Amino acid sequence: MMSQTGRRRPIAAMAILWVVLYTGTVLLPVVLANLSWAHRRDNGFLLNLSRNLALAGLSILALQFVVAARLQWIEAHFGLDAILWFHKAMAVFAVLMLLAHPLLIAWGRGNWTILTRLIVPWPVQLGRLALLLLLGVIGTSLWRRLLRLEYERWRRLHNVLVLAVLGLGFVHSLILGSGRHGDLSTWPMRILWSGLFLIALAAYLHHRWFAPRRNRLTSCEVTEVERESHDVWTIKVRAAPNGNGRRHLPGQFHFITFLDSALPEEEHPFSISSSPTENGYLTFTIKAVGDFTRSIASLRPGDRATIRGPFGRFSHILRSGREDIVFIAGGVGITPLISMLRYMRDTGDPRRVLLIFVNRAQRDILFRHELEKMERVGRPQLRVIHVLSRPQGAWNGETGRLSREIMQKYISDVVGTSSFYICGPLPLTRLAIRILRRMGVFPSDIHSEQFTF
Ligand SMILES: Cc1cc2nc3c(=O)[nH]c(=O)nc-3n(C[C@H](O)[C@H](O)[C@H](O)COP(=O)(O)OP(=O)(O)OC[C@H]3O[C@@H](n4cnc5c(N)ncnc54)[C@H](O)[C@@H]3O)c2cc1C
Repeated sequence: MMSQTGRRRPIAAMAILWVVLYTGTVLLPVVLANLSWAHRRDNGFLLNLSRNLALAGLSILALQFVVAARLQWIEAHFGLDAILWFHKAMAVFAVLMLLAHPLLIAWGRGNWTILTRLIVPWPVQLGRLALLLLLGVIGTSLWRRLLRLEYERWRRLHNVLVLAVLGLGFVHSLILGSGRHGDLSTWPMRILWSGLFLIALAAYLHHRWFAPRRNRLTSCEVTEVERESHDVWTIKVRAAPNGNGRRHLPGQFHFITFLDSALPEEEHPFSISSSPTENGYLTFTIKAVGDFTRSIASLRPGDRATIRGPFGRFSHILRSGREDIVFIAGGVGITPLISMLRYMRDTGDPRRVLLIFVNRAQRDILFRHELEKMERVGRPQLRVIHVLSRPQGAWNGETGRLSREIMQKYISDVVGTSSFYICGPLPLTRLAIRILRRMGVFPSDIHSEQFTF
């Protein structure tokens, strides 16, 4: 069994260090440019502000490649969902800064035709094109579902567009900034600027080229494909001896790609449903919701898969925690929670666990027999409350949607002593969090995982 002590230690200090490093990297070009005041002396406030925003905006854009590269030594301190949220927020922030750049130039020079003139020097055209493509990146990311853009197609488009934006932005800034009074006219600034863009390129190549190829070398074998319910399958993979997957926390997830199988070679995230105590293999329990997951049933023992991870901080063992634990799961959202329950069973965790398991009908309840056995044997000390929205036939459990009444009935006496872990469809997760907050649970005691980024 893996040692968890390293992961349990408070890691806030490292997280703070990364935040300081990030902020410093974004601000360094701005500070250096303003220190060499000789270049800026004759500019008015608006032109200087415009340049500062461009430098900071482009630095953020370059660092977006590092942020999105799924580097485990950064991810471990924040969780991939928090990192991807930050990635999106900073993209919007950078776009606003970069859009302000030409507007402030026009305003500062009192010449708005700069913005509308068709014939401008080619480096300026490159900057315009970069901005247009950047708006395309933001638009397709924010409104992907509205535009009915399939995830994989969006991802390929996103990769091409962001690389083009980075390249165009770099050439635009280097040529215009290297003039006599430009911010990049000094060698230290040019070296810093080029270094930043090289780091971005290295992060991109690592993420898209090197890591997938390295993972192929340590691919795993699919050993079992088992039907769990009418639309859910569990696949078991043998972990490669020297590869990923040997060390994970209960509740974490991997990105999986199946190789040379009937499925498309795409990378999809799935929670590990087995426990770290189950040595030598991993299981993933997958619900058929779209093109890729509907083909899971066609996998065969002997097929190969690469796994990239583990990722995520949705794990009860990362927190010293309260005395009791409450799990709230919706449908296939049980997967990270069953991993934690199995881990608690295997390690003899003495804490009491209440699981509120929300499903549509009896046939959708995953791991029903295993959960019943845990309850019966008392390893862990589990109580399961089933809530079915459309029970079929005789049913003496809770019926309807998850509600405040149901939650109050079962958890009001453990609110002050429990940690809460929620995983399920977004509306259910939001509802559960809202009810818990109204019941007086501190946000720091509520942890949730979403199955979409
Ligand atoms: C952290 C995490 C853990 C997950 N764990 C499980 C699990 O244990 N069991 C399970 O059944 N499902 C899990 N999912 C959801 C699973 O990844 C999606 O259902 C699956 O990728 C859908 O692919 P599709 O092509 O079949 O469906 P689609 O209809 O194409 O996609 C449905 C939605 O899934 C998301 N998605 C699709 N492709 C990808 C991709 N390549 N990468 C990231 N997101 C994508 C998009 O938001 C999309 O709108 C998890 C998701 C995340 C983020």
